[in-house]
Amino acid sequence: MVKDSVPAGTDPLLAVRVRDLEKSYGSFRAVDGIDFDIRRGEICALLGPNGAGKTTTVEIMEGYRKRDGGVVEVLGFDPAHQRTLLKRHIGIVLQSTGVEPYLKVHETLRMYAVLYPHPRPVDELIDLVGLTAKRNARVIELSGGQQRRLDMAIALVGDPELLFLDEPTTGFDPAARHEAWEIVRHLATLGKTVVLTTHFMDEAQYLADQVIVMASGKVVEEGPPSTLGSRDRAKVCVRYRLPAGTVPPEGLGGQPGPDGFIEVTVDDAVADVFRLTKWAIEEQVDLDGFEVKRPTLEDVYLSLTSSASTEAAGLTSPMESP
Ligand code: ATP
Repeated sequence: MVKDSVPAGTDPLLAVRVRDLEKSYGSFRAVDGIDFDIRRGEICALLGPNGAGKTTTVEIMEGYRKRDGGVVEVLGFDPAHQRTLLKRHIGIVLQSTGVEPYLKVHETLRMYAVLYPHPRPVDELIDLVGLTAKRNARVIELSGGQQRRLDMAIALVGDPELLFLDEPTTGFDPAARHEAWEIVRHLATLGKTVVLTTHFMDEAQYLADQVIVMASGKVVEEGPPSTLGSRDRAKVCVRYRLPAGTVPPEGLGGQPGPDGFIEVTVDDAVADVFRLTKWAIEEQVDLDGFEVKRPTLEDVYLSLTSSASTEAAGLTSPMESP
């Protein structure tokens, strides 16, 4: 039962508005009262461990799954009640699409294009996803990465305003991943909104304007990847290895780990790094493997999701600061 209906006065700057969304499977609460907004023209990455509730949330936004409660507005439509209208404005790239293997690339896209009132020109789409050289190839002759590009082109045939991408680069080689990222970025420059799920932190870091981290059916953190979990304000760690018997400056040393590296957290990154490197130069000491580190998106993600699952399991654990 839908508890609430879409309120009047939809914010035109928002592509998605979700409030107090709930979904249970039997007695299991897969989505447990979540709120978030996605602005138009933004790339938003939904992150979270297996079973966090991402797919359920995405399928509710797409209109493929009914919610139990809360408000969901996608491009101003309620996907539960206006799915047919919404479908004209969204594109969906699933992890595997069943495409006729013996059709050629351009034939496949033409076949989909007739389904839409205002399709994008087929050759323009082929260019957009970088399949120009494969225009006349049969689907069966495409590599995995090329098939995913075709999936993306299919999702773009109807010129959607909002694109849902489900783990868009799973199984790609590194070069193909970077190419796919460029396509997604290009879509954002065309003003499209992109909602993607991913398990790759580098993908979220590279692509997303906003990251939403889910765990155990809840949103545990959201924000731009660079500031998620206040990681931009987290203390800096300096890491280096010294020749045996060398004593570092006061406050900048420590017990080396098993790999021989000293890791020391510093309060004033610029001044402390200067003090250490000045000392090393003056004393002609080799700071082997010298590195200055802040928590990565992955560090923050792991800390957020491990504390969320610990809480969900009924254990008390103070959330570690990143
Ligand atoms: P993954 O990263 O593995 O794709 P996810 O974050 O997308 O995970 P969901 O697929 O939304 O997670 O699943 C959330 C929870 O709901 C899981 O515990 C899952 O087992 C359960 N679930 C999902 N679909 C159903 C269903 N149709 N019937 C019963 N339980 C389901």
